[in-house]
Amino acid sequence: MDLNVLIVGGGIHGVGLLHDLASRNVKGVHLVEKNKISSGTSSRSTKLVHGGLRYLEHLNQWGLVYEALHERALLLRLLKGIVTPLPFVLPNFKGDKRPPWVIRIGLFFYDLLSGDGGLPSASPLNKEDIIKFAPYLNQNKIENEMISAFLYYDAQMLDDVIARIAAEAAVKLGASYEENTTVTEVKQIENGFKVTIDSNGNKKTVTTKYIVNAAGAWCNENLLRWGIVPKITCLLNLGTHIIFKPEAVPHAEINNCAATLIQELDGRVVFFIPWFGQWLYGTTESILSTEPSHIKYPQSDKDYLMHTAKETLNLVDAEKNISEIFCGVRCMPLNQANRITQIDSKWMDDIYNSPFYVKQLDKNISGLSRETVINETVPGLISIYGGKYTTYRAIGEKLGSYLSRKLHIGSTTGTHLAENWFLRELMEEKPEIFKSSASLRQN
Ligand SMILES: Cc1cc2nc3c(=O)[nH]c(=O)nc-3n(C[C@H](O)[C@H](O)[C@H](O)COP(=O)(O)OP(=O)(O)OC[C@H]3O[C@@H](n4cnc5c(N)ncnc54)[C@H](O)[C@@H]3O)c2cc1C
Repeated sequence: MDLNVLIVGGGIHGVGLLHDLASRNVKGVHLVEKNKISSGTSSRSTKLVHGGLRYLEHLNQWGLVYEALHERALLLRLLKGIVTPLPFVLPNFKGDKRPPWVIRIGLFFYDLLSGDGGLPSASPLNKEDIIKFAPYLNQNKIENEMISAFLYYDAQMLDDVIARIAAEAAVKLGASYEENTTVTEVKQIENGFKVTIDSNGNKKTVTTKYIVNAAGAWCNENLLRWGIVPKITCLLNLGTHIIFKPEAVPHAEINNCAATLIQELDGRVVFFIPWFGQWLYGTTESILSTEPSHIKYPQSDKDYLMHTAKETLNLVDAEKNISEIFCGVRCMPLNQANRITQIDSKWMDDIYNSPFYVKQLDKNISGLSRETVINETVPGLISIYGGKYTTYRAIGEKLGSYLSRKLHIGSTTGTHLAENWFLRELMEEKPEIFKSSASLRQN
């Protein structure tokens, strides 16, 4: 097989690029995923399509918030029913890190940056409204400790479903992908690479002009296994979510409820979200220094979430009504450039303790940028680090445009056009891909 682009990793960044290149009519594009499409972080997110209100605290992230809010508007339009509007209640309690005036200013700019994003603007809420929108909040806390509250809008999604639809749409446009398939060897040759692909034990060799390493948390592991020195050091950030059954809030009309963003006393932010008929609660932030596959949620994360739920929420039989706990790992590229030029063989026994994965940080993780870093690790081999689900399409578009120019083939992107998503056909041909899969999040 002679390829133009081989994409390694079937998370949202990999399939987003596959879809983009296919929509430009770039031929010879293939993706390999070692497990299932979106079985990595892309099925384990908080499932928000959002600008990220809290990132407005950092001036250098306003550009990212702006881009994400515009992608939010586009995805709401393109993927109706899979990306849906989500009202948020934002209460301010005595002692919260961010006082009401900071929240008010933040919401003003959030609306301003959204432009005409198709969602209502933020507004103040009184206590009666809160009971209507968020009947699961602890009423005593609202009566005695709440200073103010606001209602604002964002959106939510079926994350694994979007990735599968994008992959299938790309196939309809002429691209291809394989699951349970990995890249075991990469050799640089004139004008590209010779790559060994292992599909369920069957090995084959392909040549490709470009490789895109869209492997999320596994990016640097791949590079090291291929004998290539990573240029970017990253931190693996683990987040845990609990899904509660609807019975946890028995008297609520779940589909009419708003989500709540809660600021914890230690400065962390957690979300309680009505998510397609269930309640989603998380996230926490801790550093992971082991292989990011098959990880179980840390008990300390569950304890933290159950403790904060008890303080702020009014859940019935919380423990009994847990239907699922899952965790996901985010790769966060760090600014520090590494000057390493050679791979030390002793790192290969414990790659996640090599210098390319940082295990400690002298500042709060929430202050790190969620920006995507695209790095040409060696000429022709591009690695994608970090990023947000919400901005994946825009990242695919930037990289797709770059590759199409370099290859001198293809036209402008079509991923912003409804006809390139084939929703109606796919719904008839593959209805199973439209259902979120709990088993993906657990393996
Ligand atoms: C807890 C948490 C909550 C989040 N919540 C949100 C949110 O609400 N909204 C938002 O916008 N963003 C959110 N994010 C960020 C977002 O989920 C991620 O940025 C995004 O899913 C990353 O996608 P990816 O394609 O880069 O990585 P992944 O989804 O991890 O995909 C990488 C894929 O590469 C595969 N792979 C690796 N190595 C190989 C190989 N050698 N061969 C073949 N395949 C390979 C893996 O199996 C994996 O499937 C969250 C992140 C976390 C951790």
